[in-house]
Amino acid sequence: MVDIKRIQLKAKKDEGIRRRHPWVFSGAIKNLDEGILDGDLVQVCSNKGGHLGYGHYSKGTSIAIRMISFDETIPDAPFFLEKISQAIAVRRDLNLIEAEGQNICRLIHAEGDGLPGLIVDYYDRVAVIQTHSLGMHKSLEWIVAGLKETLKDALEGAYNKSAKVLRKNGHINNTDDWVLGNAPENWDAQEHGNSFAIDLVEGQKTGFFVDQRENRFLLSQLSQGKKVLNTFSYTGGFSVSALKGGASEVHSLDSSARALEIGDANVLANGYSGDVHQSIQADAMEYLKEGVADFDIVILDPPAFAKSASARHAAIQGYKRINLRALETMKPGSLLFTFSCSQAVDDRMFTNTVIAAAIQAGRTARILYRLHQPADHPVSAFHPEGAYLKGLVVRVE
Ligand code: SAH
Repeated sequence: MVDIKRIQLKAKKDEGIRRRHPWVFSGAIKNLDEGILDGDLVQVCSNKGGHLGYGHYSKGTSIAIRMISFDETIPDAPFFLEKISQAIAVRRDLNLIEAEGQNICRLIHAEGDGLPGLIVDYYDRVAVIQTHSLGMHKSLEWIVAGLKETLKDALEGAYNKSAKVLRKNGHINNTDDWVLGNAPENWDAQEHGNSFAIDLVEGQKTGFFVDQRENRFLLSQLSQGKKVLNTFSYTGGFSVSALKGGASEVHSLDSSARALEIGDANVLANGYSGDVHQSIQADAMEYLKEGVADFDIVILDPPAFAKSASARHAAIQGYKRINLRALETMKPGSLLFTFSCSQAVDDRMFTNTVIAAAIQAGRTARILYRLHQPADHPVSAFHPEGAYLKGLVVRVE
């Protein structure tokens, strides 16, 4: 029996956990057993000492405990296997893993799959694992074993890509590495019949923005004969989708030369040449100043402007500015695909911000679609904060 230390909560601070919300904030803690270390698995107890569950403790951060189990079950290897196999069953049922032309998906979406602090993305037999807390990182062996046991031949390699996110949380002694098999650094995988080279080792996040799959698909359905500007294009996911949908021309804009290079290769790999696609290395805000009246569809998919609730107001200003800039010069009848992936800015705030920008730009605007993250990025019913990606398709007159 392992020795699991206890953390006791203050009176009434157990209510969230009893509703299965997985976060305990540092201010809710009354007492810690002596010797508890950063990243320890701890038993969480109410003010009266009753058992509430088990979680990973993070020292010095506002979310002090991420709950892993809400009953007597101790999170061990069989526990992880069970959670992982449940998560993978969801993706199998969604036909996202081994379908024809579709093998890119998120296998494990942290709180949405009952495993706070763990992200696993899947790229045709290769998993990229990101642990966001030291506690979850210590469970890496169980995670890899659970993935392999569940996916069997559908998993040939797993890359641990946690060092950067762990470093942000103060844990400096981690390096990224293959934890199962290996694969070439640029690994081809498919989304909705489109091929993408995934930069497993150097790429941002896990190498690809898996969460825009369904929104890219919608774009492809609306792109026939259209001229498209894809700002914040990264690896060209929206650009390839627009071309596949029959766009007459696509311009991809990003500040990163490396991102554009990968985007160009992806466009080429899907059978399109420089005749219909060009890449622009620029700051999106600066570029939009020059006007976008030449385009039928404009995509704005910036990185998260608000990384925390305290940055919310500044972020809203940022979204307003960038949407205003586009809306001011878009041509009548054109479409704006606009997104926010800031968790701290919710659906309503974002919609109101875009509406405010349309009013200020003096444009008549219809919201045609409200977009979200796809089903392989599920939101736990007990953790509504997990809904982070929102978008609108706005037709401008
Ligand atoms: N739409 C992409 C994901 C965007 S990620 C997809 O579907 O995959 C955000 C991208 O914005 C990154 O590639 C980053 O290099 C780029 N970026 C960040 N700041 C920028 C700026 N000021 N101007 C242009 N691009 C920027």
